[in-house]
Amino acid sequence: MKNLLYIDGKWTGENLDKIPVYNPATGDLVSEVPKGGKEEATQAVEAASNAFEEWSNLTAYDRARLLKKYYDLMIENQDELAEIMTKEMGKPLAEAKGEVQYAADYIEWYAEQAKRIYGETIPTHNANKRLQVWKKPVGVVAAITPWNFPAAMLTRKMGPALAAGCTVVVKPSGDTPLTAIKLVELAEEAGFPKGVINIVTGSSSEIGAVFLSDSRVRKVTFTGSTEVGKVLMRQGADTVKKLSLELGGHAPIIVLDDADVDKAVDGVIASKFRNAGQTCVCGNRIYVQSGIYDEFVEKLARRTNQLQVGNGMEEGVDIGPLINQAGVDKVDKHVQDAVKHGAKVVAGGEQPEEKGNFYKPTIIKDATPDMLIMREETFGPVAPVQKFETAEEAVKLANNTPYGLAAYVFTDNVSVGTKIIEKLDFCIIGWNDGAPSAAQAPFGGMKESGLGREGGHQGIDDFLEIQYISIGV
Ligand code: NAP
Repeated sequence: MKNLLYIDGKWTGENLDKIPVYNPATGDLVSEVPKGGKEEATQAVEAASNAFEEWSNLTAYDRARLLKKYYDLMIENQDELAEIMTKEMGKPLAEAKGEVQYAADYIEWYAEQAKRIYGETIPTHNANKRLQVWKKPVGVVAAITPWNFPAAMLTRKMGPALAAGCTVVVKPSGDTPLTAIKLVELAEEAGFPKGVINIVTGSSSEIGAVFLSDSRVRKVTFTGSTEVGKVLMRQGADTVKKLSLELGGHAPIIVLDDADVDKAVDGVIASKFRNAGQTCVCGNRIYVQSGIYDEFVEKLARRTNQLQVGNGMEEGVDIGPLINQAGVDKVDKHVQDAVKHGAKVVAGGEQPEEKGNFYKPTIIKDATPDMLIMREETFGPVAPVQKFETAEEAVKLANNTPYGLAAYVFTDNVSVGTKIIEKLDFCIIGWNDGAPSAAQAPFGGMKESGLGREGGHQGIDDFLEIQYISIGV
């Protein structure tokens, strides 16, 4: 692998300072990447701007063919991509393979959607006019991605942008740049023209400042924390930057008395412990109705104790390390705070012996709304459970947050489930389903969880401008 910047069809940045990339399971150095900054970001924007005309003039069918080839290369290289991901990010190898497939799905889906960017003809009010709507690519897109899904968060942006006819500059997280660089290598192999896809690693604040202030960048698409999302929003004001923001979450899981308890436990395990609890849609607080509370907590604790913690490269591991020590500290702070406020740990609750950023999968019962863990995104393998009596009470507890990304409901009563979901202020709902994400579905949040949608046929809209034409005839 080259582990360099890719700008205007050339691998570059050999002479820049380097950023180390560590394996969070072992603390070992995995590799180094160049520390790009303002200059490199500007060069990449220039390259993307120069490439835009030729790329956007290709037919949708030509762009779709290249995207399809890219998809095939991702699948051919699934094992290598997964291994790179596990080494730099920590998730178990089987999960990393799953993420590569999920990431490739976005490329395949948008290869197909490229051919379905339809305009409109509007009935006229005047016999001497014809009214039409055309769709145009927005232009150069800058994408900033997080470490928790190093492949999928990139392709969820690149897929629709490239399909729409936009050119792209990517800035991956400094913690996980290697998967992103490998994906750009595969894009080069697929044959995308020079300048269409560029990648810059390095100082996030310098690179971000170029993206938000350069008027040639017509859209910035960001996935990461709400805190940084707000900074980017402020920075983009001067150029009225078009923004998509996929930000933090604090997902509630509501389990009603009539739910199938075993299925609900499975759903909570899937939602909470995937990626060691480091996903924006992870259930972060679990509300269980009083009639099944004791049975549910007992079964959940038993299942949780069976999960294997360890290096994601080893066979049979369910829970890998957290990304860094700060992640471990935050998890432990949430657990200690809950205990201080009267909650009881019924599984886990501490770091295991091994070296690395590990935390045992943890269940806390008798949580209350004043606890930190019930108010903040934990981003770790801890599930606090709180008892409730009525569906109305559960909805009120669930909505009491500035976030609005994902929520989960477990009930077999269609009428009760429907009424609860109608009242939930969240944009993604898993109903008897702990893993609702899919390339063909619109992903995104309301409130402080963000702006815009990624995935699904809706996900390409943010990369298109609507042009309205009134024709006098
Ligand atoms: P983060 O700290 O906000 O970083 C995200 C990206 O922004 C990284 O590439 C980071 O680069 C970059 N960045 C940081 N400061 C910046 C600045 N001032 N200007 C420009 N770029 C900047 O978030 P994270 O810790 O990587 O990811 C975890 C967060 O992402 C969680 O809150 C999670 O909920 C959210 N998330 C949301 C979704 C969704 O779809 N809604 C999906 C996944 C994750 P460096 O790392 O190199 O500094």
